[in-house]
Amino acid sequence: MTPLVDAYVGLGSNLDDPADQVRRALDELDSLPLTRCLAASRLYASRPVGPQDQPDFINAVAHLRTRLSPLALLDQLQALEQRHRRVRQRHWGPRTLDLDLLLYGNETLTLPRLQVPHREMASRAFVLLPLAELAPQLQLPDGRRIVDLTGTLATTGEVEVLPDNAN
Ligand code: AMP
Repeated sequence: MTPLVDAYVGLGSNLDDPADQVRRALDELDSLPLTRCLAASRLYASRPVGPQDQPDFINAVAHLRTRLSPLALLDQLQALEQRHRRVRQRHWGPRTLDLDLLLYGNETLTLPRLQVPHREMASRAFVLLPLAELAPQLQLPDGRRIVDLTGTLATTGEVEVLPDNAN
């Protein structure tokens, strides 16, 4: 059987009550087969990457412990996106739910469907800030620590913790 692995998943939404989309998705991650959600960050609000004529995003990061293989976990994440009726009219456009597999144990994977660590995670404040909240000492496979990467961000001002109970 596949051993237990700690994985981190980034969540994002900017359509159809984004905070609710993210909260529901966090619950649903805990219900995936062979998987538990051990911890979730607070919710963060961020300005969109790319076209600015769209709503702000709500982001969070979940810490999973799973026996799913990397591709089986990706399949589950993509099925979960579909269940949230993800709408993708354009690249970097609005979406009801985006799930990114950020880290899978200490593995580095370069497959046609899956690159781990996620290729943009080291430069994105909306990933690094919630991840640093959960696991500041965590290291990428290349040895870089999350807490150190947050210090290299050009700007963190456009990512803020969502006040409790905000929608
Ligand atoms: P996007 O939703 O725009 O971030 O990209 C989705 C596509 O990225 C899908 O075709 C995935 O197969 C691919 N992909 C590659 N690496 C990852 C990853 N670490 N997490 C999620 N999707 C990934």
